[in-house]
Amino acid sequence: MKLAYQYKLRPNKQQIEVLEKWLDLLRRQYNYRLGERFNWYEQNRNSINYCPLICHLPQLKDQPDYYTQKKDLINTKKLFLEYKTIHSQVLQDVIKRVKLTFDRWLKGDSKKRRSGKPRFKGVGRYHSFTYPQIKQDCINGNKIKLPKIGFVKFIQHRPIPDGFKIKTATVIRKADGYYVILSLEDKSVPSPDIRIIPNLDNTIGIDMGLKAFLIDSQGQEIEIPQYYRQAQKQLRVKQKAVSRKIKGSNRRKKAINKLAKRHQKVANTRKDFHYKTAKGLLEKNDVIAHEKLNIKALAKTKLAKSINDAGWGQFLTILASKAEKAGLLTVAVKPHGTSQECSCCGHTVKKTLSDRWHSCPHCGFEADRDLNAAINIKNRAVGHSVLKAHRVSEAIAGVGEKPTPVFFESA
Ligand SMILES: [Zn+2]
Repeated sequence: MKLAYQYKLRPNKQQIEVLEKWLDLLRRQYNYRLGERFNWYEQNRNSINYCPLICHLPQLKDQPDYYTQKKDLINTKKLFLEYKTIHSQVLQDVIKRVKLTFDRWLKGDSKKRRSGKPRFKGVGRYHSFTYPQIKQDCINGNKIKLPKIGFVKFIQHRPIPDGFKIKTATVIRKADGYYVILSLEDKSVPSPDIRIIPNLDNTIGIDMGLKAFLIDSQGQEIEIPQYYRQAQKQLRVKQKAVSRKIKGSNRRKKAINKLAKRHQKVANTRKDFHYKTAKGLLEKNDVIAHEKLNIKALAKTKLAKSINDAGWGQFLTILASKAEKAGLLTVAVKPHGTSQECSCCGHTVKKTLSDRWHSCPHCGFEADRDLNAAINIKNRAVGHSVLKAHRVSEAIAGVGEKPTPVFFESA
């Protein structure tokens, strides 16, 4: 089992100087290696639609890859002595980052999803470095030993769980200071074997609500907490404060720093809310069904739901990882038509975004639009025909008499 714990660092002035120096040197190294790869790529590619059949081949340069770039670090250290002050594995990790970002651009990740063209990092835009290995006894009281930096004070707000080994340490600069993220692993604890089969009793469907954060298939809404909206208001105030100040001035720098801190605060609060919501859902249900998130489609069709901003994606990631740890399941279902389809009889009932109520002319089923969608999501995850799921939705919506499912009986 793998975990990641984050602790706040309390470096002294000297240590901060070293950290900043390292970050800037690593940033330059990152840009240089990225440039090396771009150069090769520009010089050696040829579009196949106008590639001449016979042409003179210039002597091809070796393509820079992870290994050649790593070997070349020796020359970097010879030319620029200050690179010798950096821990060698930290420096090598930069090469790995370049490789990863380049691969993700050209080949895509394990699911063949490609990311954008890698970008050079401007001054102050390189925020972290990683020790790919670190000694197990690096923690001593309230201090952590970072190789070549020394003992740095940190706030150990929770202990490292028994049996876990520290695999890597990443130092990261945020708006309010420096943090260290330790990745931990316990090989003796296998990832739980998940053998739950979704059924009508153990599954709940959730849909992103228009006003609430989410609505589940039992009709329960989870509101967006009030403090979250307040924080966003303050964000606007701080943003205005920045734009009033003259560019390049010290006061502007200060205002930007305040804004960054506020952003971090909002992000933390949101994350906390997501964790608590996920916990609540997993305590009551074994399987949680949600719509498969399609960012591109979302941008087109669900603009009105942007009130919940990007938070939904983060929430689903947290939900999935928490479920996995607890041996529970999340199911992503096809999102197509979940709000249009009647969760009772399966007929399509056309609605525009402003229609808040689902009222089916075919079977008489009535419910809030989002609730209808949540029930559809649940039904899809369970794999039940609408007819079988019918009884459940009826009980939930409190429809007295059994409506006649016209379209199934005639079939
Ligand atoms: Zn219906």
